[in-house]
Amino acid sequence: MKLYDNLISATTSELERAKAAVYTYSQAGSWPCNDNSEFIMERDSVVELGGAGEPSVNYTCPTTSGIVTQDEIFVYGQDIREIKKAAAFARIVILETEDLGEAADQEKAFRAIRNLEFVRYHVFPEGYMVRVSSQSNQEQVRISKDAVKKGIDFAGIGSAYIKKYKAVDLVKHVRIIFITDRKLVEALRPNADKVDAVTKTLTHILDGLPTDCGHCSMKPVCDEVEGMRELHLGKKK
Ligand code: SF4
Repeated sequence: MKLYDNLISATTSELERAKAAVYTYSQAGSWPCNDNSEFIMERDSVVELGGAGEPSVNYTCPTTSGIVTQDEIFVYGQDIREIKKAAAFARIVILETEDLGEAADQEKAFRAIRNLEFVRYHVFPEGYMVRVSSQSNQEQVRISKDAVKKGIDFAGIGSAYIKKYKAVDLVKHVRIIFITDRKLVEALRPNADKVDAVTKTLTHILDGLPTDCGHCSMKPVCDEVEGMRELHLGKKK
C-alpha cells in the first residue's frame, strides 16, 4: 500500500521545519478509556481543541514502505497542560501495515482499511470528548477539568490510540501526531482533503465501480495517485 506515500511525504516535509516532543508508546502509560463517548459540559471543561473558531485537521494514512519503524507519539506545539482555553488542533495517524492493496485477497485488504477507519472514530479517553466531522476532516476535543487535574497529556492519549490500532490485524507500527500550532494545522489542511479523496476512491473500487476511466468521477484521483489505476483495473482482470 503506497497510495498514501506522497501525502505522508508532504506531511513530513511540512513538519520537519518545526520542533516536536517525541514519546515512545507505553501500553502501561495509556490514558484510560471509556467504552462509549462521554459528554462533557462546557462549564466542566478547561481546554477546547479545534473548536471555538480554531482550525482543525484529522487524517490517517496507511503505508507499507517502512516509514514508521516503531510506535511513537509526536507533539508539535503546546501540550494539553499548557493550553489555557482554546487551540488549533490536528491529529494525524501514519500506520505501517502488512500489505493491504497488494494482497492477493483484496476484499480482505479493504476490510482491513475499513477496520482502521473504525478505530479512528472509536477511541474514548476519559475526560476527553471527541467530536468528529468525517465530511470535513475535522476533529474537536473538549477536555474536562478533572482530566487536567489528573495529568492528562498527549503521550497518554496517543498511547491509548496506538493500543487500539495495534489490536487490528495487519498493523505493525503506529505514529500518531498531535499539533496545536495554528500555522502548522492550517498548512496541513489541504492534505486532509487529498487523503479523503484516496480513501473514497478505494471504497468505490471495493463497491464495484465500473472500469470505464473516461466516464469515472474518480479520474482526477487516479491521475494523481500512483498505483490507484493499477489497483482497480488489475482487480477486474
Ligand atoms: S481506474 Fe479508472 S475506473 Fe477505476 S477508479 Fe480510477 S478512473 Fe475510475
